[in-house]
Amino acid sequence: MFNTSKSEAIFAAASKLMPGGVSSPVRAFKSVGGQPIVFDRVKGSYIWDVDGNQYIDYVGSWGPAICGHSHPEVIEALHLALEKGTSFGAPCVQENILASMVIEMVPSIEMVRFVNSGTEACMSVLRLMRAYTGREKIIKFEGCYHGHADMFLVKAGSGVATLGLPDSPGVPKTTAQATLTAPYNDLEAVKALFAANPEEIAGVILEPVVGNAGFIPPDAGFLEGLRELTKEYGALLVFDEVMTGFRISPGGAQGKFGIVPDLTTLGKVIGGGLPVGAYGGKREIMSMVAPSGPMYQAGTLSGNPLAMTAGIKTLEILQRPGSYEYLEKITKELINGLLKIAQKTGHKVTGGSISGMFGLFFTGENVHNFADAQKSDIAKFAHFHKGMLERGIYLAPSQFEAGFTSLAHTSEDIDKTLAVAEDVLLSLRNLD
Ligand SMILES: *Cc1c(COP(=O)(O)O)cnc(C)c1O
Repeated sequence: MFNTSKSEAIFAAASKLMPGGVSSPVRAFKSVGGQPIVFDRVKGSYIWDVDGNQYIDYVGSWGPAICGHSHPEVIEALHLALEKGTSFGAPCVQENILASMVIEMVPSIEMVRFVNSGTEACMSVLRLMRAYTGREKIIKFEGCYHGHADMFLVKAGSGVATLGLPDSPGVPKTTAQATLTAPYNDLEAVKALFAANPEEIAGVILEPVVGNAGFIPPDAGFLEGLRELTKEYGALLVFDEVMTGFRISPGGAQGKFGIVPDLTTLGKVIGGGLPVGAYGGKREIMSMVAPSGPMYQAGTLSGNPLAMTAGIKTLEILQRPGSYEYLEKITKELINGLLKIAQKTGHKVTGGSISGMFGLFFTGENVHNFADAQKSDIAKFAHFHKGMLERGIYLAPSQFEAGFTSLAHTSEDIDKTLAVAEDVLLSLRNLD
């Protein structure tokens, strides 16, 4: 019998101590009902909760755990780094090592600045876009999430989409007005925005493969079109690869699709489970960042040796031959299996994957943008999520989040997941 009494007690106490009982909104189970489970430990492809239940994990700490949780080599490297101290507030050689790896792996990056989260990377790149171009407006896409900086909380994805929140109170109107939005995969809409605001748009920022509105890949020609349009209007193209970086290929989405943006943000995988973010791009643009240039951005804990070490070891493991082929193979097994079972059990679903990133929507129609994703049967997803959870499969508690696999997921994990999914989807047939 599925027992989560300890989780429930801890979450009840947490709810009195922290808003919503969590340190980040997506962790709450608001859109799927029920309560979050409280983790005790993680290893490989598995999670154990405080009640002793074991789960196969498809969240992977929302992306960082791409080598599998607590990879022995990452843990060993961290132990060694720990002995020398956790933070220097001064240069350390590990920054050079990780920076060199990032520059070598990510096509557009000639220089990089380390920060402590994806949000920080995106808010810094935003300032840099405006500083470099001398323009104030930006274009973002509906359902894309770029962290919680003011200018990005306009039609945002992730927790904002999951909770169905309107744009956040506290964001100054003048700030929100400078953020123009378009539907994802809609080049014509972007063209119209540029035509209506010539010389005013600093740049376009996007998730080159969307993960924060569920998994939505770019249509053929979309990224190319954005590259051309931004060039034409003297604006910057910024790929937010906080999720896709080092996940969908060694060079992220830009490596996969062969489109070189001007600037790129990174997070999640680059910290190997510790808090790291980064932004980088052309040397000429990055030279504007203080102290080399006038655009100010700083961080007490930025580039600390402990976090750098986790990132270095994680990227080292990923660069070994066969890593990305394995992620591709194991994820295809999972998503193809899920789509087949859904069809067999009579549920309308659509989904896909690229490397270790996947998604499934409960709708029969193709999903090209956030409005399409919103046509999904959210109630059915909630039942599916609960059924999977109770049988030991941990999925993101939202229809609007991508799923992740890791190098630690085995074919046995996938087979077990598919067997459970078949049971759950069979039991949901009477919902229609
Ligand atoms: C997770 C994410 C962010 C924010 O990163 P945090 O580390 O949570 O601040 C920004 N952009 C994208 C695409 C993300 O997936």
